[in-house]
Amino acid sequence: PRGFVVAGIRLEGVGKTYPNGYRAIESIDLEIADGEFLVLVGPSGCGKSTLLRMVAGLEEITGGTLWIGDRDVTDLAPRNRDIAMVFQNYALYPHMTVRENLEFALKLRKTDKQQRAKRVDEVAKILGLDVMLDRKPGQLSGGQRQRVAMVREPKAFLMDEPLSNLDAKLRVTMRAELARLHERLATTTLYVTHDQVEAMTLGQRVAVLRDGYLQQVDTPQNLFHHPANLFVAAFIGSPSMNLVEAQVSGGRVRFAGQELVLPEGSALAGLERSVILGIRPSDFAHADAAHASWPRMQVVPAVVEELGAETNLIFPIDAPRVQTDAVKAAADTHDDDEGALLADDQRALFTARIDGRRDARPGQPIEVALDVNHLHAFDPESGETLARERATAAAGA
Ligand code: ADP
Repeated sequence: PRGFVVAGIRLEGVGKTYPNGYRAIESIDLEIADGEFLVLVGPSGCGKSTLLRMVAGLEEITGGTLWIGDRDVTDLAPRNRDIAMVFQNYALYPHMTVRENLEFALKLRKTDKQQRAKRVDEVAKILGLDVMLDRKPGQLSGGQRQRVAMVREPKAFLMDEPLSNLDAKLRVTMRAELARLHERLATTTLYVTHDQVEAMTLGQRVAVLRDGYLQQVDTPQNLFHHPANLFVAAFIGSPSMNLVEAQVSGGRVRFAGQELVLPEGSALAGLERSVILGIRPSDFAHADAAHASWPRMQVVPAVVEELGAETNLIFPIDAPRVQTDAVKAAADTHDDDEGALLADDQRALFTARIDGRRDARPGQPIEVALDVNHLHAFDPESGETLARERATAAAGA
């Protein structure tokens, strides 16, 4: 059951040029459906905050139209937009009890007293706060505080990295809590983060932004399995996608001294051209555990990362690194230090993720196998995927 009034948000050609002439957001079309949880993700400086602040009304929209529900709110003041911002620090009044804080939120919206009490009880119950109504914010846990702070009756929530100040463990808990809350309240939410893991776990859909341009708006699954371009491919997924220049012809792909036969029906099989080949670390397996049809590769890991369930083998291959702007921009934002690792080695570094029970040591040759059914290929010039038709078909299925 939906406890709150909901409404979609629609951006039509929304752009932003700052007074100093800086073009922070290119004309963007984006629709956040009624009740949807959409995450906006991208590297620092790509324009996420600018976009969010324009939706909130804290920053002037210099081009296009913004709709909330069926209202054009492009030029409306923030207080008239019926949306709530949730920032890193939740704005609760410390001298008021939870009940008073909740009432205050509802009072702002001119609810009468009887309705208010009823509404507070209702809302407190939904959020599991009913036994805490007489406590002050200082006596609540971080999670409980967040729940209180989220109680307004806005048409939409706008969240600007609300979890970024929390330690890693609490962040995971709060992520789950947020997802649960959204399931219950089904309030339209636009959530901004630079953390692709957070984006993938929270978003029903994720919009990837780079330098003010929308790259792809899709489900987490589709972003991972069908990235539209090299930037999205390199940005989404951890460890990040392995990339290398390759030649496709005659149903084979050649790179770094390797030659792999492409399975029939593979997205690459029909191509006759040079590509940037993309391989997810998880599409490797230890040779002993892999399907017989998968081609084998002998590799010598320079680094072995044992994570328990899985082990990452990091090995150089006999090809130069792919260093396009898109790849560099995406790599900058990854927390893993593969880039710094073996920085002197100009060869491309691949990561293969294999079963953690397999024995692997740095410097010792090991045979891995590769699932060639899920290779990715990109145009070396434009960076666009060469499997777009297949991706679109899969997304529509
Ligand atoms: P993000 O939230 O993705 O880190 P921002 O939206 O904060 O990015 O900034 C996007 C770009 O706009 C950055 O290059 C930033 O320097 C620039 N910018 C932000 N605010 C202003 C401003 N008031 N005037 C000029 N440029 C700005």
